[in-house]
Amino acid sequence: MYHIEARWMLDPAGRVKKDQLLVIENNKFTYVGDYKSDEIPQGSEKIRYDKGLIVPPFINAHTHIPMSLFRGIVDDESLQEWLRHIWTIEPKLTPHDIKIGTELAMAEMLASGTVGFVDQYYYANEIAEVTHKTGMKAFLGPSIFNNNGETKTVDDSFKKNMEVLNKWHKKDGRILVGFGPHAPYSVDDEMYIKIYEQAEKYDTKIHTHLSESPREVEDSKAKTGLTPIAHMDKIGVLDRIIAAHCVNLEEADFKLLKDNDVTVLHNIQSNLKLGSGIADIPRMLDEGINVTLGTDGNASNNNLDLLEEVRLTVMLHRGIHNNPKQIDTYTAFKMGTVNAAKLLPDVYSGRLETGQPADLVVVDMDKVNTIPVINPLSNYVFSANTNNIAITMSDGKILYQEGRHTTIDVDRVREETQKSIDRMMLETNYTAVEFEY
Ligand SMILES: [Zn+2]
Repeated sequence: MYHIEARWMLDPAGRVKKDQLLVIENNKFTYVGDYKSDEIPQGSEKIRYDKGLIVPPFINAHTHIPMSLFRGIVDDESLQEWLRHIWTIEPKLTPHDIKIGTELAMAEMLASGTVGFVDQYYYANEIAEVTHKTGMKAFLGPSIFNNNGETKTVDDSFKKNMEVLNKWHKKDGRILVGFGPHAPYSVDDEMYIKIYEQAEKYDTKIHTHLSESPREVEDSKAKTGLTPIAHMDKIGVLDRIIAAHCVNLEEADFKLLKDNDVTVLHNIQSNLKLGSGIADIPRMLDEGINVTLGTDGNASNNNLDLLEEVRLTVMLHRGIHNNPKQIDTYTAFKMGTVNAAKLLPDVYSGRLETGQPADLVVVDMDKVNTIPVINPLSNYVFSANTNNIAITMSDGKILYQEGRHTTIDVDRVREETQKSIDRMMLETNYTAVEFEY
């Protein structure tokens, strides 16, 4: 049981309020409002940062979590060539590697103010186990793909997906499971339809990559006569999809995304790094499409700091459109927080409000890069970095405080990470990347 005396707090309407009190009992906020001493329960632990801003934590809305092990493996290639590298080494991953990569990613996310993630990867059972242990929140779409390292065929990966769904979906209050077909170019229509039927039955979502690169769209049109989005609509599965990327859209695609209530998972740094293009986010926002932000895997970003995605989303679209009002500060912040609540119903709300799950971040403004404090939200979005993250709390539990993780042994993870990647590189005789500049 905690109570937090906040110098500043961002309320659900986007206003920074002064001198607020947040009371946390079990996993919920039992009081959020003006400071009143009689609202403080007996025996609760006090947290106070005199220069602290309390905000909802981020959700990283598109990840391949264990790929943290591949950070820096290939930096200067197109998506197709990048995939060739990744698909060489991925089959060597063991369940142990997956757990280490997952813990590494979680340590990085918690230290940068992120409390949950929307994943697509195989060995999802192992990812769920680590998520359960560390106290983070997740929507998991187990990868459906041929020869993915865990299973050898698309059918087997579908069976594995169903196993993980039955074991973990809505079971511990913090983990939701859907489906994770890789993309329409790697999984056939018949499988998408089969997945859709199960997604309907379990009332869950399908996490897939859509219209990421220009070549993917060209190939789809050559094969089906339609864009990947129009094709997903034609086979009747679009309304259960949450769509990563949506970079290369045609006019009719925007309306299809809106009409089918598709949440777009925007990954600006990954798209830029792989030279895939830039998604038209201002247009999506104008159309009323729900847009969230992700980092993508660590092998194409190469970090999991969602604040960087928020900041770059603001900056880049303003630059492209020659318009400083194109995406305002709070709109970008919402993309990283409350917009993602739709992906994690009953698990995360992104709202600091009585009755909501007790998820929060304390941003310490008393650092040289965030003084003076004229507008605390501005300082967070435009000036802060991970050094400003004082506390990350999930469901009323402090998972990170002042450089220390409470549920992850970072020293062990550090050691095991290097061992895992060294072993995989040896096993694949991985020489594709020359470290010569
Ligand atoms: Zn991805």
